Amino acid sequence: MVTQRVKGMSYAIRDVAAVANEIKKTGKIVYQLNIGDPVIFDFKTPDYISQALADATFAGQNFYVDSLGVRELREEICIYEKKKNNVDLKADDVMITSGVTEGIFFVLASLLESKNELLIPGPSYPVYINYSKFFDGVPVEYELDEDDLWEPNIDDIRKKISDKTQAILICSPNNPTGIVYSKNKIKQIIDLAGEYDVPILSDEIYDQITFEKDYVCPASLTNDVPIIGMNGFSKAHLATGWRMGYIYYHDLRNKLAELKEAVEKMARARLCANSIAQYAAIEAIKNPGPHTEEMVKKLRERRDYSFKRIKQIEGLSCNNADGAFYLFPKIDFKEFSKWKNDKEFVIDLLKNTGICTVFGSGFGTYGKDHFRITFLPDLNTLETVYNLLEDFLK
Ligand code: PLP
Repeated sequence: MVTQRVKGMSYAIRDVAAVANEIKKTGKIVYQLNIGDPVIFDFKTPDYISQALADATFAGQNFYVDSLGVRELREEICIYEKKKNNVDLKADDVMITSGVTEGIFFVLASLLESKNELLIPGPSYPVYINYSKFFDGVPVEYELDEDDLWEPNIDDIRKKISDKTQAILICSPNNPTGIVYSKNKIKQIIDLAGEYDVPILSDEIYDQITFEKDYVCPASLTNDVPIIGMNGFSKAHLATGWRMGYIYYHDLRNKLAELKEAVEKMARARLCANSIAQYAAIEAIKNPGPHTEEMVKKLRERRDYSFKRIKQIEGLSCNNADGAFYLFPKIDFKEFSKWKNDKEFVIDLLKNTGICTVFGSGFGTYGKDHFRITFLPDLNTLETVYNLLEDFLK
């Protein structure tokens, strides 16, 4: 009684959580290093943003708002993007979504059908794969090269781009690898997109969470190739549960008019995004507090600690993360022949130590032989976790 298109969906992060829940029922501690949600750790939604949400509801902003989003928020996003990334936008180029997730859903719904293709980074954030297939498209993974610090392999993109390609997706800073794509690589991807006359989809949800390497916004590098940027308030503004995001079109040659209209049609069909969260989002970007900077400072310390501990474990190798909050270590199965694959490894680790991570093959074919571990927890928890991991692997 259930459609094939939904049966075919899988989400490794949640799959592991199901096993974790079983373990929790037995009374054992589970260390949730599988979920990229800062708000479940010691990062709190700033009070002034929460206050703005409460104020909005008491002020009676509890009605359906414009399907494309509250105009003032869209205007503020233009100012914010100009300041942050030097991208020129008008309010009509911006649409509010229920998180980046809904933005991806709308854009892929409008772009994909009949086995046409979307080029996505591999390893890949699973949502790109799931939604592409859901809309009868084909997600084609281009290699992020582990030997090149996970930078995108441009030759591989060139090999895989075709007249079936509808768009090239960039996710920088990247989930799960932590790479912040270098300017040079982004330029080369833009050139290829220009050559094949396809837009770039740019998932920018981690753009404020970078360490040593500077984030480069694709839209700041071109006036010719159309870019659809997707961003939101989940990570940098610590409001994951509010489901607040946006899409912007950087499209100076007006190539995306038809696509934009289609996406807006989808937005109208779902009435609107959460009204009061939009008013709170206005406050968040109009008056940026110190919360993002403070989070990055804490995360840098936690990343350095996690990276150091992983490097000390024989049989694991790892690139450090330039941004976001994940490390993606590689498992040497010659050293750890006890386990057949990354999924078995992750489940056994969880059952024996309570450490919950995500198996790499859940991030597509290039994720094989890896696992993703977040460095969001505080240093004390990380110390316990890495002691347990080290002992387990001995
Ligand atoms: N894009 C990437 C790359 C993510 O890692 C995540 C969440 O982990 C999202 C989008 C989801 O963002 P949102 O909460 O805005 O839907």
